[in-house]
Amino acid sequence: MKSLSNVFSRSSGQRQERDEDRGKFLHVLLVDDRAADRALVIRALRGEFSELQVTQATDPAQFAEALAGGGFDLAITDYRLHWTDGLAVLRAAKARWPDCPVIMFTDTHAEHVAVEAMKAGLEDYVLRTPKHYVRLADAVHIVLERARQRQAVKEADTRYQSLFERIPVGIYRSTSAGQFLEANPALVQMLGYPDKDSLLAANLSDLYVNTEAGLHWQTFLESEGLARKVEVPLRRRDGLTFWAQCSARAVRGNRGEILYYEGSVVDISDRKLAEEALRESENRLRSIVENEPECVKVVAPDGTLLEMNSAGLAMIEAESAEAVVGQSVYPLVAPEHQEAFRNLTESVCRGNKGTLEFEVVGLKGTRRWVETHAVPFGNGSTEKFSLLGISRDVTDRRRAEEALRRSEASYRSLVEGAPYGIYRSTADGKFQSVNPALVHMLGFDSEEELLTLDMSTDVYQDASERAHLLEVFRERFEGVEVQWKRKDGTPITVRLSGRAVCAEPGDSSYFEGIAENVTEQRVLEHQLRLAQKMEAVGQLAGGIAHDFNNLLGVIIGYSEILTDRLDTASPLRNHAEEIKKAGNRAATLTRQLLAFSRQQVLQPRVIDLNSVVADLEKMLRRLISEDVELVTVFEPALGQVKADPGQIEQVLMNLAVNARDAMPHGGKLIIETLNTEVDQAYARRRPLVRPGRYVVVAMSDTGVGMDAKTQTHIFEPFFTTKEQGKGTGLGLATVYGIVKQSGGFIWVYSELGKGTTFKIYLPRIDEAVEAAGRDQDEPEVARGSETILLVEDADSLRELTREFLQSSGYIVLDAADSTTAMQLSKQHKGPIHLLLTDVVMPGLSGRQLAERLTNLRTGMKVIYMSGYTDDAIVHHGVLERGTVLIQKPFTRVALTQKVREVLGVPEVHQ
Ligand code: ADP
Ligand code: MG
Repeated sequence: MKSLSNVFSRSSGQRQERDEDRGKFLHVLLVDDRAADRALVIRALRGEFSELQVTQATDPAQFAEALAGGGFDLAITDYRLHWTDGLAVLRAAKARWPDCPVIMFTDTHAEHVAVEAMKAGLEDYVLRTPKHYVRLADAVHIVLERARQRQAVKEADTRYQSLFERIPVGIYRSTSAGQFLEANPALVQMLGYPDKDSLLAANLSDLYVNTEAGLHWQTFLESEGLARKVEVPLRRRDGLTFWAQCSARAVRGNRGEILYYEGSVVDISDRKLAEEALRESENRLRSIVENEPECVKVVAPDGTLLEMNSAGLAMIEAESAEAVVGQSVYPLVAPEHQEAFRNLTESVCRGNKGTLEFEVVGLKGTRRWVETHAVPFGNGSTEKFSLLGISRDVTDRRRAEEALRRSEASYRSLVEGAPYGIYRSTADGKFQSVNPALVHMLGFDSEEELLTLDMSTDVYQDASERAHLLEVFRERFEGVEVQWKRKDGTPITVRLSGRAVCAEPGDSSYFEGIAENVTEQRVLEHQLRLAQKMEAVGQLAGGIAHDFNNLLGVIIGYSEILTDRLDTASPLRNHAEEIKKAGNRAATLTRQLLAFSRQQVLQPRVIDLNSVVADLEKMLRRLISEDVELVTVFEPALGQVKADPGQIEQVLMNLAVNARDAMPHGGKLIIETLNTEVDQAYARRRPLVRPGRYVVVAMSDTGVGMDAKTQTHIFEPFFTTKEQGKGTGLGLATVYGIVKQSGGFIWVYSELGKGTTFKIYLPRIDEAVEAAGRDQDEPEVARGSETILLVEDADSLRELTREFLQSSGYIVLDAADSTTAMQLSKQHKGPIHLLLTDVVMPGLSGRQLAERLTNLRTGMKVIYMSGYTDDAIVHHGVLERGTVLIQKPFTRVALTQKVREVLGVPEVHQ
């Protein structure tokens, strides 16, 4: 049969594309014992098949051999054979090669034979009559074709059967009642049955896990006739369930009745599991996103909000996702940040990552700062991405930052605006940062300039001072005074506080310092110290002068008395006069000392300094030498001052004398008057100077001048640079005292070789000038006869004074203290015209005594005697207006003049 199958396979394989080949090949087994008949057959077929192979069997042996060999496509047999008949041949051939078609070609025309042969599988029956035998070729073709078709069907059957058996999809056929009619091994295995028969014994309904679902499926199939890919859980024979995807179709008969169902079952457990896993992981992700405390959102390239989690909704104050999803997010972005947000969205949707901090505006209007990290988010296609963003609320951080910035700014302004120099420097002395005050203090123009300096050499006067400082105070120091210099080299004294700041323990990385320029303060302190010294010296001098006054009074007084009483011819008289002269000189000195110590009694008036200077001008000209030019410059609208004109004259004289001495070879002496105002700033730099309006008298000379050291001493009493006997050192001390006592101050400007200017500041007042008292005539002893009560605790001075008065005609009652004086007044019956009393006494003071006695004796006049005044008695050295005072030590003339002045023109008792 090999050949036959070859032919068939060749034939079937080439049938389609090589139709013209059909009939070319044929291997035929020809069973006939008559040569003529065989030739007839061969002749009939040769024209039809170009490659005809004929195996002839003319006897049983040949037939048996051919049958065993096979390989033919067709057998043609005669019916009548000498060793058998065609029917037997047919049966033998069919038994051996069931697929091989057999044609009977015979003379015998017997109906029963034909029927019998057909039953045995004969393909055709062709009569060997001339009429019929021409049909043989056609018959062969038809038979071959039929055989081919049979073969094809058989092959297809085999193929489908194999497909049915091997396909991994479960396939079944069942009755409409669910009884399995057919099932393939895949289904058997899928459902866990040991073999096909046991499955066929089962019913479809046994498989349903959910009977209801099964019923539904059944009904659906019946009505629709087709169900596709229905996913149902099925139960295996062992009870385990699995997910299956079932498709089925109802096959109907002619009348529409359901003959059976055909169906397929696919085990989709794996897919279901995967789907389940996917769903689970999706759910997990969703729940993560949903529970994520930060805002998670997806935004389309055009700004449409696609998704947002609860945290996000809370952030934008949305009640639900519906309120915002599907709408533009731009209204939620603060207007000033919309452009930045648009840029971010565009960039991210092109596939980039991005971060942005911006403000969102909630639906209720609340603004919050958010930090958004965004990544492209897509479905994997080439389409544009969306934006997946996570936004964190950073409002608190921003506020903290803002607060920090503000506090930084305020500290910065504190440092920038501080009146102290504040800096930070490296360990080796480079400025790292400096404030404007330090720049100013060091005389630089910009902070940058300072940053280039080396502190040790460029700032410290002594390059080793900084190192020394850091060595002594390792970690911190407070208020250490150091000597710095400004850009132009001017030295300044700086009070420095600082500390080392350690980045790591033990390692001093940099220094922080605060520097205060105390140069001026030190100068002021120096000035103050000088003033205090003057004060102390003044008190000392004043104390001595007071005692001196009394002594000098006695010396002068008695020398006067002596002179009076000695005969003009007496040589002793000359001696007495010398004593008197020396005493007077000493008295002048003492008065100057008292002036310096501001313990003399001033009798101030409102005066115009211009006229004081003008009045004095003539005398000053006499004082200075001829080669000194005197120039006066008057301020026409000069203000008034209140001062003792005599004292002011004294001041101007002293200054002029000094100027003269400073210009031994001539020069210029300029006296100027002017108004000025001392402001707060100026006053701050001058201790003991009060701001206000002043009148200034300035006296300048073009003399030798003074160095700084001399200037610090000139106002001290007894300081002189003049040779022995020339200077007393009291001139300027007197000036100083008078000016101070008058409420003013004095200032000196001088440079060696360049002359000197003294400026006297006196407080300006607005009162009108008072007329000066009339000039006294040339003094002489004024006599009288009135009764005078003299009170003086210093015995010698009291006696002297009594002498003066008695020798001038007066009646004197004298007492050493107030108590005695009161008693004397009581006892004395006659009038007492005058009380002449010391001011400072033990017991009642002169003033208290005067008060009491004038109460008792109305009309009694009072003259006080005093060497100095004490603040306790005479306010600021000024006696009340109308008080008469005679200054100790006094001469007989001065005393009697004063007495006469007070008592008035003497009554003439003749
Ligand atoms: P005396 O004139 O007796 O020396 P002063 O108190 O008047 O004492 O002056 C003190 C010192 O001040 C003087 O010795 C002199 O050195 C200095 N002095 C004062 N006025 C001037 C001046 N116009 N020019 C230079 N030196 C002066
Ligand atoms: Mg002098």
